[in-house]
Amino acid sequence: MTAEGTDLVRTPSHRLVILGRQGAGKGTQCERLSHHYGIPHISTGDMLRSAVAAGTELGRRAKAIMEAGDLVPDSLMQEIVAERLSQPDAAQGFLLDGFPRTEAQAQFLDDYLAPRALDLVINIEVPDEVVIARMLARGRADDTEEAICRRLELYEKETAPLIHFYRDKGILVSVDGYGSPDEVEQRLIEVIDSHVS
Ligand code: AMP
Repeated sequence: MTAEGTDLVRTPSHRLVILGRQGAGKGTQCERLSHHYGIPHISTGDMLRSAVAAGTELGRRAKAIMEAGDLVPDSLMQEIVAERLSQPDAAQGFLLDGFPRTEAQAQFLDDYLAPRALDLVINIEVPDEVVIARMLARGRADDTEEAICRRLELYEKETAPLIHFYRDKGILVSVDGYGSPDEVEQRLIEVIDSHVS
């Protein structure tokens, strides 16, 4: 095979962002998709919770913010994500869960990845009642009722605008998140395989 021929053999790249309100099933589905596609699941919420549990400087700065359901400052989040994406396991693709959450973070991500770009942004949609019931059922330390309400409010204000941001770029797809984890996973795989090549 010639050098040119070799160049034609391209592996699909999966640089994916999963959007959806807390309780939409992002974490569960990202774990499954990470396994299916062999790409890392990068959850900024999990990274922050580990930092809090380990009592690191980052954890000390993030703890009270997370407990209140507020957003950790963009600059800090961007630093953490840039460091994580620079690791070798993210070179062929990744699933970002919980980032970006603001337009500034989305712009940062675009700049960071250039000249490459995200392949697909998936918005998992679920009705309000389902989101609230799932969040109360999972019982995480930062899941008080006040924090849940604050997060849903911030999602509408800060994160929902990202749906337009990515739709304008032509890389947004919405997937119905209602149903069993197996059903939702199948829907996601079909959507990803039909959009990413
Ligand atoms: P999550 O597990 O994604 O719901 O994140 C839990 C908490 O971590 C959020 O309520 C925020 O306080 C914080 N957090 C996670 N990701 C971000 C982000 N991209 N920007 C700001 N704060 C974040």
